[in-house]
Amino acid sequence: MNQTEELFRADATLTECMASVAALDERGVRLDRTVFYPLGGGQAGDRGEFELADGSVLLIADTRRGPAPGDIVHVPAVGQEDLLARLAPGQRVLARIDAARRGRHMRFHTATHLLCALVPHPVDGCSITADYARLDFHMNEPLDREVLNAGLARLVSEAHVVHQRWISEAELDANPGLVRSMSVQPPRGLGRVRVLEIEGVDMQPCGGTHVANTAEIGAVVVTKIEKKSAMTRRVVIGFAESN
Ligand SMILES: [Zn+2]
Repeated sequence: MNQTEELFRADATLTECMASVAALDERGVRLDRTVFYPLGGGQAGDRGEFELADGSVLLIADTRRGPAPGDIVHVPAVGQEDLLARLAPGQRVLARIDAARRGRHMRFHTATHLLCALVPHPVDGCSITADYARLDFHMNEPLDREVLNAGLARLVSEAHVVHQRWISEAELDANPGLVRSMSVQPPRGLGRVRVLEIEGVDMQPCGGTHVANTAEIGAVVVTKIEKKSAMTRRVVIGFAESN
């Protein structure tokens, strides 16, 4: 099967697209192209819906990577057997993500990169949801919540440009400090690696979806700092207002 065209890669602001059903099985639905981001790099998979040609709507509860490289599986919400039985390869659907939820993922994901810039230690865990984001840093020094909050507020208000670009594996190997995450190594063997650059602040391999400017993150605050183990400090952030 051909790989799903990942429209969210080129433009993370896309919220819907027309697509054709490529395949479906007990795991879910594959499309020829999609705006749905699959769970990965710590960022939650998208939810949303497929609008079928007859106007009926299939609810998508999650998006995951399938077993094959480049495979993206849209997982239907339970209890839609009748609708799924009418779905067949080749059918056209309007695929639409829950844009408000994704917007929160993007703001939090970019905010976690700001945290990486403020805490110069390797990351050994990451989770980005619509309600909070957390990063586990490999370190034993204490962290000061007020210092982190002030740093986050400063980097947001400075309105740094955020963009993705490709660098060669040779360039990556020459700058091992670029790989901030211990648990997630960038995919190798393609000759190039996608990096997320926050101009003047941070650059690291990342395939997630991000806002285009740190100002779009809005007000985020550290809600918790935990000592998870002798060498792990967990930092949890949330939005200052519930918007
Ligand atoms: Zn990232």
